[in-house]
Parts: sequence; structure tokens; C-alpha cells
Amino acid sequence: MTEVSHGAQPLELGNANATAVTGTGTSEQWLARYSNSLMGVFGNPQRVLVRGAGALVWDADGKEYLDLLGGIAVNALGHAHPFVTSVIASQLSTLGHVSNFFTSPTQIALAEKLLELSQAPAGSKVFFANSGTEANEAAFKLARVHGGKERPTILALEGAFHGRTMGALAMTAKQAYREPFEPMPAGVRHLPFNDIEALREALDDSVAALVIEPIQGEAGVRPLSAEYLKAARELTREHGALLILDEVQTGIGRTGDWFAGIAAGIIPDAMTLAKGLGGGFPIGAIITFGEGPSTKLSAGQHGTTFGGNPVATAAALATLHVLESANVLANVRTVSDIFAQGLGKLDGVTEVRAFGLLIGVELAEPVAAGVLAAALEAGFIINAPRPTTIRLAPPLNLTAEQAQSFIAAFPELLATALAAHSSEGNS
Ligand SMILES: *Cc1c(COP(=O)(O)O)cnc(C)c1O
Repeated sequence: MTEVSHGAQPLELGNANATAVTGTGTSEQWLARYSNSLMGVFGNPQRVLVRGAGALVWDADGKEYLDLLGGIAVNALGHAHPFVTSVIASQLSTLGHVSNFFTSPTQIALAEKLLELSQAPAGSKVFFANSGTEANEAAFKLARVHGGKERPTILALEGAFHGRTMGALAMTAKQAYREPFEPMPAGVRHLPFNDIEALREALDDSVAALVIEPIQGEAGVRPLSAEYLKAARELTREHGALLILDEVQTGIGRTGDWFAGIAAGIIPDAMTLAKGLGGGFPIGAIITFGEGPSTKLSAGQHGTTFGGNPVATAAALATLHVLESANVLANVRTVSDIFAQGLGKLDGVTEVRAFGLLIGVELAEPVAAGVLAAALEAGFIINAPRPTTIRLAPPLNLTAEQAQSFIAAFPELLATALAAHSSEGNS
């Protein structure tokens, strides 16, 4: 008999918690095992997390953190929300997976709910996937069937992030993500950000679709102007191209509205969702608006095994129910203002771009990575998408007091980062 090594502990089944199947260890021990067993695509993980409750998480050494990143805009209601977890557990113990040869009440109810929240017109439809990139793959295929051979071009923007699978990657702008995997699926062109004239020039009758994020999250929380969104809608309509909004990060209440583009008065032809939708459970979706776009993909042209399963759709329904019934979007706006005002007046902060609880904090010096490191030491989880930019995307039910605790700590985090920066010989 072969022995299982890799440091695995003997299983004690019948004890229904994670440590029964994982064993225990210190962060250092886990990280050694991580680097021996997991592919290096994410670099070194910052911490080994074992437990969460609301906006708090704990690492394997028992240290507590205030999670101001929320799993990158995913944990809409924080960690282990009691209603969401109980709905997931009860759905899983009733009916967990059925394949798309079948449907389930939760799948249908969630599609109806998303159509209602997005104020989608008659004839609008939903397709469920498991992630943001998959939702965008569906968008890519929608653009292809819409365009056919005559309209091979898909327009996206510089700075765009749409995911890591090949179609979504082709629409993603960052050269370092794309180059090792070229040739990309053909036809995608990237236009300058927020440049209406460039859009006007590029939009001709060879264009199948324009794919945009109303606010670019990975690029450091960069909003398109209301004028650009309006022009995008008018110009695509004029030329018979689809307008596809990627609201994977901005959707589901993140900005204080259900959807940033819809709130700006834009009715797209399609909109993709994922991150916050399942409250931490993986799910993605594309909504097509109106008859035209909704009938483009026909039976057999697209599919998924896991997408829209009863558990994921129940998780999303539970998340939407809490966001609505507890009036969480009002909290998003209140706490957003607290961050904007509190961080905006600090020395060393040049700008705060706060769209609900998607917040970019611009620093005078390129010390975002140092601030992130100091924040972790001080018990805060944040993100540094660019050398001068901090991004926050905390749970939407973050309290005012939790926001204040970070604002109060920020000057010292920045001072620590600046000191480390100048001792490295930079100035
Ligand atoms: C995160 C993100 C994606 C990709 O989602 P995954 O679930 O990581 O595949 C796509 N678009 C936007 C705008 C995102 O923020």
C-alpha cells in the first residue's frame, strides 16, 4: 500500500469541521506545505486564514484582521453570514447539483430576481456561470454570434480587466497577462480610456460589441465619465453593435446602487456579474437585455456543467434577500462617505475615489505595497493594485466604527511605509 505523504494528517471522519480533514498547523508550517503543493501563479500568500465572522478573519496563528478587501469585492455580507450559510447548508442537504438537463426553483427565482433588480425590459434573459471570467466568455460568444463574419471586431478599453480565460483575456488589456498566451482570440482592439473621440472613430460597421467596466477595479478604481457611458450607448446603438457592461466587480450593491451602469441611466445589451453575487459562494451570470440579444445564443451554442446549480443560486438569493431586507445599500453610501472624508483629509493622500464601498486611495508616494504590509501587521487586510493606489472593497455591511478604526490607523501605516521606502534608498 502506498503511504500518503505531503504532510497530510490522518483523517478523523465523522467530525464535521474543516480541521477534521485538514489537520492543524502554524502559518509557517502551512506556507511550507503550500509552496510544495500549489502552483506558484499567485506568488506567496499573505496569510493562512482559518476562520471568519462578519468583517473579521483570523489566521492560523490566531491573529485577527479587519477584512477591508472582502475577498476582492466578493464577501458582500462578510464572512459566515448566518442567514446565507444556513440557506446554503439547507439547500445542499436538500438538493445540491442536478446538471442543466434539469432546472430548480432556486435557479428560476434567481433569474427572475436579477431581471427585476436590473429593471430589464420584457424578453430579457439570464445565463448562469461560475465566475466572472466565465460570464465574460458568454459575453464574448454573444458578441461573436451577433457580429458573425461581417463584424469581427470587439472593442475594449486600455486598463480593462475581464478575466483570465482566453476570451476574457483577449479583452483584458494588461500585456503581461496576455503575452505568454498569444495568439489571443482574434478581433479585440483596445481603445484609450474615457476617450469619446477615439470611440467615435473606432465604431464602424465592423464592430460587434463594446465591452466596458463602468468603473475599472483592477486598474485602481477608475470611473468612466457619465458622458462616456452615454456616448457608448448612443454610438453602439447607431452602429448596430452591442454594449456589454462588465459589472463583475461593480454590480450587486458595491457602489451603493444595484448596478453602476444602470444607475447611470444606461440600458446595456448585456451585463456580466459575479463577485458579490453569491455572497462568497462562486457564481457568475450574464443578463441580456430585451428580445434581440436574448435570443442570439440558441440551444446547444453555450453551456456549463456547474453553472446555475441549486446551491450557488440559493446562496445568491439569500445574499440578495439580506442586501434588500436589511437596507444594506444605504449603509454602503453612509460608510463610503466616512471613508471618503476621513481618508481624503490625511497628509500623503492626494485623492480618494469612493464609489460606494469600492474605493481607490491615491498616495503622494509609490508606497502602496508598504502600506499593505504595515496594514497586515496592524491587523487590516487591504489591496495595492498600483504602486500609488490602495483599493478597499470591504463587506457591504461594514460598520461606521470599523471604517473609523482603519482611518485612525492610516497615518501610522503610511508613516511606516514611508520610513521603509526611504531606508531602502528611495526618495
Ligand atoms: C474579477 C473580475 C473579473 C474576473 O472574475 P473571476 O471570477 O476572477 O473570473 C472580470 N471582470 C471584472 C471587472 C473583475 O473585477
